[in-house]
Amino acid sequence: MSAVLKVAVDGAHPYAISIGADLLDDGVLLAATIRGRHALIVSDSNVAPLYADRVQAALQAVRPDLTIARLVIPPGEHEKTLQRFGEVLDALAGLSATRDAAVIALGGGVIGDLAGFAGACWMRGIDVVQIPTTLLAMVDSSVGGKTAVDLPAGKNLVGAFHPPRAVIADTSVLHTLPDRELRAGLAEVVKYGVTAVSLDPADAGFLDWLEAHAEALLAREPAITAEAIARCCAFKAAVVGRDLLEHGDRALLNFGHTFGHAIEVEQGYAGTHGGGLNHGEAVAVGMVLAMRLSAALGLAPASAGDRLQRLLQRLELPTSIPEGLAPDALLTRMRLDKKADAAGIRFILADGAGRARVVPGVEEATVLAVLAG
Ligand code: NAD
Ligand code: MG
Repeated sequence: MSAVLKVAVDGAHPYAISIGADLLDDGVLLAATIRGRHALIVSDSNVAPLYADRVQAALQAVRPDLTIARLVIPPGEHEKTLQRFGEVLDALAGLSATRDAAVIALGGGVIGDLAGFAGACWMRGIDVVQIPTTLLAMVDSSVGGKTAVDLPAGKNLVGAFHPPRAVIADTSVLHTLPDRELRAGLAEVVKYGVTAVSLDPADAGFLDWLEAHAEALLAREPAITAEAIARCCAFKAAVVGRDLLEHGDRALLNFGHTFGHAIEVEQGYAGTHGGGLNHGEAVAVGMVLAMRLSAALGLAPASAGDRLQRLLQRLELPTSIPEGLAPDALLTRMRLDKKADAAGIRFILADGAGRARVVPGVEEATVLAVLAG
């Protein structure tokens, strides 16, 4: 078996992230995260048929006394609802889950956020074990303790900070991940590269490393993929370790997201299945725009935008605003974003060499010029 990489997340509730091949079958690793006698595996109907039996069998082999139940919901962001949240709680009630029970979130970020929020609320908070199965969930959503569900009024409007008990990222499951989902995760990986120095100066060279390994990442080369995940988790761990509640530099993780979010909202969250950009793709475009804005404000050289664009193109991600989305409509969306105030819109801007910062009050005319290309 190949090596297991470990990343520690410090803070009031420290936990470990394990990254490696075939960890789903590691009953000892899984069982070490379970304190009580009850576990609920929450998954979606794409992931559960592929992987839930393996997790359950591995766990049961080491802990024959453990009562394990399973809740499988349909896939997709539109299932991240209060109703599904209630179903997870009902499943915990059906299991007669006690304070020491565990919720095992087996899936992408939708399952992680939903099951994590239910775990945060059942009896005011029980253990949540994150087993992320998308690249995005491995490098982003499973780490850091943010959990939430959506309301008709907007995404992630109800949630809690509830750090997991453990994160177990089995890189082998990425082989069944659809290409487009892989690339969406790679966009978030690039985000860490662009902001690397500010997140963790110890890994300042991450963007160069990504440029050296873009094709290997796209080809899901196991050792390179595992290294990328571990380095991203270390970035996220460093940031949430010093700013769990996003009062400070955790916000840097939103690089590219103000533009990206405007694109997502303006296209009506059309996403992969509605013919629009998915979140990672919108972030890819957003990061190029954010770098161009940084250059327009004199914070980065013009070449930084070109460099970022080339890397994203090698990762087969989009880098320009989709046809039909008007600059002024996108600007209006950004004005309504929670990152806007009277002085103008707040952006995360970068210098092209790995440093990023929050810049408030950016003038709309400059933003509009960048949007208009
Ligand atoms: P997702 O959970 O919808 O998964 C994407 C698709 O891939 C789904 O259809 C899923 O069934 C399928 N899938 C997952 N793993 C698979 C595998 N190994 N093989 C085959 N198919 C697989 O989406 P996502 O991109 O993982 O997560 C997006 C969600 O994450 C959003 O709701 C977002 O708000 C949330 N998020 C949360 C945080 C946080 O800090 N909590 C951070 C970023 C994103
Ligand atoms: Mg994101």
